Formats: sequence, C-alpha cells, structure tokens
Amino acid sequence: MVQPANIAFIRTAKENCRVCYTCVRECPAKAIRIAEGQAQIIAERCISCGNCVRVCSQGAKQVIHGIDPVRELLAGPEPVAACLAPSFPAEFSEWEYETFLGMVRALGFDYLIEVAFGADLVARRYAELLASPDRSRSYISTACPAIVSYVAKYHPQLVDRLAPIVSPMVAAARVVRHRYGPQVKQVFIGPCIAKKSEALHAPVDLELDAVLTFAELARMFDESGLDPAAVAPADFDPPRAGLGALFPISRGLLQAADIAEDLMVGDVVATDGRTNFVEAIKEFESGALDARLLEVLACNGCIMGAGMTTDLPLFRRRSQVSRYVRRRMRQFDRAAWQRDMDCFGELDLGARFHPDDQRVPVPFAEEITYIMAKMGKRNPEDELNCGACGYDTCREHAVAIFKGLAESEMCLPHTIDQLRRTVEKLAASNEQLADTREALMQSEKLASMGQLAAGIAHEVNNPLGVVLMYAHLLLDEIEQHSPIREDLHMIAEQADRCKKIVAGLLHFARQNKVQLQPTDVTALVDRVLQVAAAPLNVTVQAQNELTDRIAEIDPDQIVQVLNNLIHNAFSAMPDGGTLHLRTYGDTAQVRIDVTDTGVGIAKENLGKLFEPFFTTKDIGQGTGLGLSVTYGIIKMHRGDIQVHTNADPAAGPTGSTFTVILPRRQSPRPVEANRRDIGYDQIETKDTRTDYQS
Ligand code: ADP
Ligand code: MG
Repeated sequence: MVQPANIAFIRTAKENCRVCYTCVRECPAKAIRIAEGQAQIIAERCISCGNCVRVCSQGAKQVIHGIDPVRELLAGPEPVAACLAPSFPAEFSEWEYETFLGMVRALGFDYLIEVAFGADLVARRYAELLASPDRSRSYISTACPAIVSYVAKYHPQLVDRLAPIVSPMVAAARVVRHRYGPQVKQVFIGPCIAKKSEALHAPVDLELDAVLTFAELARMFDESGLDPAAVAPADFDPPRAGLGALFPISRGLLQAADIAEDLMVGDVVATDGRTNFVEAIKEFESGALDARLLEVLACNGCIMGAGMTTDLPLFRRRSQVSRYVRRRMRQFDRAAWQRDMDCFGELDLGARFHPDDQRVPVPFAEEITYIMAKMGKRNPEDELNCGACGYDTCREHAVAIFKGLAESEMCLPHTIDQLRRTVEKLAASNEQLADTREALMQSEKLASMGQLAAGIAHEVNNPLGVVLMYAHLLLDEIEQHSPIREDLHMIAEQADRCKKIVAGLLHFARQNKVQLQPTDVTALVDRVLQVAAAPLNVTVQAQNELTDRIAEIDPDQIVQVLNNLIHNAFSAMPDGGTLHLRTYGDTAQVRIDVTDTGVGIAKENLGKLFEPFFTTKDIGQGTGLGLSVTYGIIKMHRGDIQVHTNADPAAGPTGSTFTVILPRRQSPRPVEANRRDIGYDQIETKDTRTDYQS
C-alpha cells in the first residue's frame, strides 16, 4: 500500500441529516465535521469503517455504491471472479449456501472464490511471523483495512509495526491470478466498506478490479429479478478453504486457522469494535499491551460489517456462519486443502504500509481555555463532560473546535443556555413592541383629539379676542388708582392666557411646538395656585424642595397642565380635602406632585385616564380632554406623567397623586414634532431621561 486515496465512500444525504451528533460521537477517527447544518465526512480523515452508516438512524450516511463498474465487468469479454468473504452466511441467511452461490453465478460471475482460503494462507504467515526467533518485535494485524488506515493516519509512528502481510482479500486475489490467469477480473464481495478503499491502494489496485458490499450484491439480486428457486445450485471453485472460513466469527485469524495453541498463549491479544480498537492501539503504542500480536478489527467481527443489510443480532449471525462451516467441514478434504496450501506456500504475501499522518497539532492551553470560555466553561464545574456533543469531554470538544472539526453549538448545555437567552431577549423586545404599540395608539388618539380641539379652539378664539380687546380698552381708560384696576388686569391676563392656550391647541392639532424658556418652576406653581380658585372646603398647600428652581419649559403649556390636574383634584374632593403641590427634583429633572385627598381612581379606569374624551363626569361637567392634552404637552417636553392612587377606603386614605416629570434641559435636537410623531417622541423620552440620569 502507498498513500491511501482520499476518497470518501460514504456520503451524507443532506435531507436526512438531523444533526444529532451520533455519527460524530461514534466516529473513531473524528472524521465528521458539522458544517452548514449537516454532518460532513472529511475524506482524508475517514477510515471507511462505516460506523457512521451503522449508527445513523435517519439513513443520512450512505455508502456510495459501485454496482455499475461491476455490471460493466460482467458484460465485458474477460472472465470475472466473485471473491466472497467468509461472512456471507450472516447476510444471506435465508438460502442454503449452494442457492446463494447459484444466484451469484447467475449474475454472470465465472468463478466463485472463497476468500477464506486467503485467510488460511495469511494465518500461516502470521504464525511464521510470531515463530521468528526475534521475539522483541510486536505487531498489529493488518487483515482489517480500517485498522490499517487508522494506524497510518492517527498513529503513523506505528506503521512499521503493522504486520507486513497482505489481507485475506489480497491473498485470495493473488491465488486467483496464479490459478486462473491474469486475464481474470476480480470482484471482492464482502461485509466491509473499508475494502473499497483498500482496493484503490497500490499495489492492491492492480489485483482487484472492484469491490462490492453484501448490500450491493443484494441490490443486484433484486434488480436482476433472479428467482432463488429457479437458479441452479453452485459451489465454490478451488482452492477450497479450511478453518479460515471461521475467521469472521473468531477471536482472530490465528484462532480461526487452528494455529498451535502454545503459540497463541500470551502472544496474541485479540480485540474488536470501535472503542476497543482505539484503546488497544493506544495501549499498544504506550507499551502497556504485552503481546506479540495485536489482532484487531474495527467492527465487532466482520459479520457486523457496515456493508451489510441484515438486522440479525450478533449471535444469530455467528450461528449462521458456524452452521455453514459445520456443513462445509463434513465434506472437508483435508488432503486436497493441504496440497493447495503447499502449492501456494511460496506465494508472495508481503505487504508494506506507509504513514498518512492526519494528526492535527494539539492547541495551546490558552487556546483551549479561550474556546471553552466562549462556551461558558470558565470553571472546572462548568465542564459537564456530558458527551452530548459527540466528544467524550468538553476539552476534547474544544480541541475539535480548534481543529475546525466541531462547532460550539454542538455543546447542548451551552446551546440551551443561548436559546434561553434568546427567548428572554425576544420576550423583552416583545414587551417593548407592546409599549410601542400602546404609545402609537395613544398618539392616534391624541391626533383625533387634536382635530376636535382645533374645531373648538377656532370657535372660542373670536369671542376671546373680543374679551381681550375690551379688557385692554378698559385698562387704558381706567384711572391709575381705581380699585378695579387690579381686577381688570387679572381679566386681561387670564384672557391673554386663554388665547395662548387656544392658539396652543390649534398648534397641537397641526404642528406641535413647545416654546422653551428658562422658567422658575416654583413661581409658576405659586401663580397657578393663586388663580386656582379652590373651593372653600379644600385646603391648598404648596411645598418647594427645589434649590435650583429653573427649568427649560414652555411656561404657558405647563400652567395648562397644572390647571388641568388641579381642577381634576378639586372635582375629586366634592366633600372637601387637601390639595398639595410639591416641587422637587435633581440636576436632570424637575418633578411636580399634584396630590389630592379625593375619591381616588378606580383600577379599571387607570388605563383609560389619558384617553381623549374619557370622563366619569356628568354631561356638561367634563370633556374628558384635560388629561389627554396634559399628556400631549408633557410628552412634547419629553417628560412623563405618573399616577398613584387609592380609591378603596378599606385599603387606606383615598386620593391621588399625579407626578409631572420634566427634563430641566432638552437635548440639542429641537423639540418639534408634527402630531403623528408624538408616539415616537414618547418612546425616545425614556432614553433622554436615562441619558440625563447617568
Ligand atoms: P375630565 O376632567 O373632563 O373628566 P380629564 O381627562 O381631565 O377629563 O379626566 C378624565 C377622568 O379621570 C375624570 O373624569 C376622572 O374620572 C379621572 N380623574 C382625573 N383626575 C382625577 C383625580 N385627581 N381624582 C380622581 N379621578 C380623577
Ligand atoms: Mg379634567
């Protein structure tokens, strides 16, 4: 053998792959990479053991079939030999072996060859190797091509410890060539996918023309429509095998071939199967394995090969093979067998193997630590080593990520954690969305309210203009020291304010604009209270806690806000009570609490308070516009309004506090928005506040 050809004989059926990582976990060569949402085979790392094919419950790992070249050979002029691996009774258990062979011949094969005879020859070479006087050398058997490939790729320094003997398949091919001539085309038919790869390697490529798995042979039977009842029974062509036929169910070639016991004891360690072989080769390398020959197979015996279709359990397969061998042994012609063995005693069965190093340098500790940290594994207790990713430990997984073989998403706990976070984020943004929607609805209501307000304002504007004009006329005419001068002044001032409010409403309806100016908030509150005309049974209190009393606000609009709140408070206290105004704040904000000891607001009404036209007052008493105008003004200031209330006397004193929150300064962007934009401004308000606070 030379450098193995890097052809993957297994493909991933993308549509079937559910990315369950089972193949990753079961691949002894770690030759499967998760990429683009599927498990892909890395040809140069693959040892064609077929474990992935066997373990994939979705049928996503498929052997690339090679039936067509065989059909071509059968159709061609040269005779074709079918070299049958001795495990065939395990696959084709429904027929007597003569029927099975008759079927093979009916496909067009000219010779039926027992690879088991190759096993007999090879076993003898192993016995000779072990009998050599140089007992210092120990070997790994080379009957299993997946093992040879594994050693070449992942333990290349052990290549010269591979027993320098061809496999039974190659031995049988050489026998055929010898006996039936070089013109005979040879097709190996067996349970093994790795044989396909072995047959491509020089010099084996010169000896074998094609390799079929039993699965492919079964398919050919199906496609040819052969009737087993109608085919003529057939038997193998010579040379006939001896106990080599037991090889697929034995603990190794030597045992199958009945090599002397004394040679076996202590000298040969036989093992098979995915986990065992990896461990055994590791131990062999470390020197821990004290044996002259490590007989090792990648599958649990060739009868469990991945190129089979049967779902018979292991022991049924074994009994099928041994039943066949017992039948064969009854007609066993030992003398003829011995003659054939002697005849091929000089046949060259030597083999040489070459390293095909596929090891990837192990990353530095820091690199592993970094990769682990990205998967949330910062402390030893974070390393669950749960194996869900397909790797035995978190560290092995991290190494595989480093090598580009794995992805961090393969870590189940990590992915679940990520998922949880994403769900949380989504939920949060959903909430935000709900807020936005609510704000938008509010802005639409404000818009319709604006239209109505515009209508009213337009009507009110003219009579108001007359009031204002006459008040000013009277002021001009009245004597300087007249006692009613003060009253007239009040009329003019209030009418003036009304006009501004009306104008403001008109603005609000078309294009909202607040005219900010540095304003003494405490003085503004005092002025509002002065003209508030509190009912006699209501006590009014004002409390100022501001040291810096100045804020950039539109004073007329904030007066309107306070008036609305104060008059609502009065209405809530028909039997009297206390109105308390408190001004306070910090460097970023000014807050005004308007508190009453009134009836409070029922819970079911809280959500509707700021809706235009929501009122609990009698017709003619309330318009339901006060709070929605208030809300609009505050939002244009990029402020906020909050309500605390209790309407249940059983829960404590009733009453309400409306808190107006206004930023002291506005951000550089002009506070200007047409009414459709109010909703967006409301959203930004929160950000602005946060900015100020931080
Ligand atoms: P209006 O005052 O015309 O009813 P508002 O928008 O000013 O319209 O108020 C809407 C409703 O909110 C009022 O009808 C009332 O039910 C409730 N409300 C407002 N302020 C208070 C308060 N301080 N105490 C109790 N209820 C209030
Ligand atoms: Mg009101």
